[in-house]
Amino acid sequence: MLGLMQSQPLLISSLIEFAERHHGDAEIVSRRVEGDIHRYTYRDLAARARRLANALDELKLQFSDRVATLAWNGYRHMEMYFGVSGSGRVLHTVNPRLHPDQIAWIINHAEDQVLCFDTTFLPLVQAVHARCPTVKKWVALCDADKLPADTGIPGLTSYESWIGAQSSDYAWPEFDENSASSMCYTSGTTGNPKAALYSHRSTTLHAYAAALPDVMCLSARDSVLPVVPMFHVNAWGIPYSAALTGCKLVFPGPAMDGKSIYELIEAEKVSYAAGVPTVWQMMLGHMKPAGLKFSTLRRTVIGGSACPPAMIHAFKEDYGVEVLHAWGMTEMSPLGTLCTLKNKHLLMSKDEQMKILQKQGRAIYGVDMKIVGGDGNELPWDGKTYGDLLVKGPWIVGSYFKGEGGDPLVRDTQGRGWFPTGDVATIDADGFMQITDRSKDVIKSGGEWISSIDIENIAMSHPAIAMAACVGMPHPKWDERPIVAVVKRPGTEVTREELLAFYEGKTAKWQIPDDVVFVDAIPLGATGKMLKTKLREQLKDYKLPSL
Ligand code: AMP
Repeated sequence: MLGLMQSQPLLISSLIEFAERHHGDAEIVSRRVEGDIHRYTYRDLAARARRLANALDELKLQFSDRVATLAWNGYRHMEMYFGVSGSGRVLHTVNPRLHPDQIAWIINHAEDQVLCFDTTFLPLVQAVHARCPTVKKWVALCDADKLPADTGIPGLTSYESWIGAQSSDYAWPEFDENSASSMCYTSGTTGNPKAALYSHRSTTLHAYAAALPDVMCLSARDSVLPVVPMFHVNAWGIPYSAALTGCKLVFPGPAMDGKSIYELIEAEKVSYAAGVPTVWQMMLGHMKPAGLKFSTLRRTVIGGSACPPAMIHAFKEDYGVEVLHAWGMTEMSPLGTLCTLKNKHLLMSKDEQMKILQKQGRAIYGVDMKIVGGDGNELPWDGKTYGDLLVKGPWIVGSYFKGEGGDPLVRDTQGRGWFPTGDVATIDADGFMQITDRSKDVIKSGGEWISSIDIENIAMSHPAIAMAACVGMPHPKWDERPIVAVVKRPGTEVTREELLAFYEGKTAKWQIPDDVVFVDAIPLGATGKMLKTKLREQLKDYKLPSL
């Protein structure tokens, strides 16, 4: 017997329809490429998303055709989130920080038909457009009078004249909720990138889950600043959850430096922010010397790479901001776990609570996770045993776009498919997961594993260290030994010996790095994560002091 409730597909268009109807006057504020601040409401956004849908119809774009963006976080990008997917096309957010060759490869692989870009990226588009034969319409995300001249890009149109010519009347089509809605290519540090192809159903379910109190806890009373780019896993789904909750949205545009972000937070009374650790590193680096404080910021989600405990501590103790440590992946839409305490932890000391809060956190309903050993058997949740982390759930990839890479899933004895995350983790008895490493970054010394994240976290709790990356170096006796590459904070001093002494008592003796290498910068990838492959290349002539 089937249930007798109305069957209504979960579609992205329903999110913007809801926001328009119930939160029509809630604000969306954007810093634009032009440098000024733009303000409007969900009502305006919905109308313009419908104009965009009409423009795509006029181009005769078919259902599931791809529309690409090379854009910062801003209101026009947000309109594309809803206008493109809502009308049945697939939004392809391209990461502009990738190499032009990779961008051209991705656009061709996705067979994008339209590409809309912020004018910041004009040189990039000029470099790739001739290599992108599938793109039949190039659109600059700007006013008609700001359209760059003599670009060499055929038929380049301004977004405003393109959608301005269209009606704002449009009936969002109804279709299968499993239809593709958007896509995002993985960073692809090895081999060609592969695309996660999200569906309306996966995106809508993720939007619900992300808004929950123990997840991102978003509400109509929040003013939310996603620093995490809209070209990186849909800004962690915030645009969708924002429409679902009706929160005020504040977009930073191209101004991603610490000073600009801080000023925007203060000016727009931001209560909630989200970004990768490197972004907050820059902001705290700007605030500390100037003695600045936040007037309204209360919570921030930090994820994408391990959030150093020193940062969680500084946010809480120095600025009164609660850090929500999150873990996820492009393949997971992206949210998998978020770290918030349970009732039984509330009576613990601050130090004990901090030990929990630095973990990657508890699974969100909708994400099933387990750790397995080399034999594929599940390992205990004791907070000590580590193994390969596997996940399954309705917003986790089943396979990649065009079947690239074959079947990525690992089957359990009941035939259920689990996605191997490539992360190594422990899970404690309360279900709190802690990442020790990417499996390829794990350091093996004398048959034991050393967590590079632990080694980095200790270095970063030293007041003179701004950033640290730990890698294993080949060693004839121990297989590998850890060394730590560090960037000093400006105006501070610390010697190799002092830093190594700082490790004493903070970790087992054999886990203390063999050496410290002072560097000007740690190489970062296109999504702000440390690029250890590149660091290893830079250190290819390095020799351990003991050899
Ligand atoms: P991406 O798909 O580019 O977002 O990368 C996903 C990977 O980033 C994960 O598999 C982890 O290795 C890493 N990652 C994301 N969040 C965290 C976190 N909070 N702590 C440690 N690693 C993280």
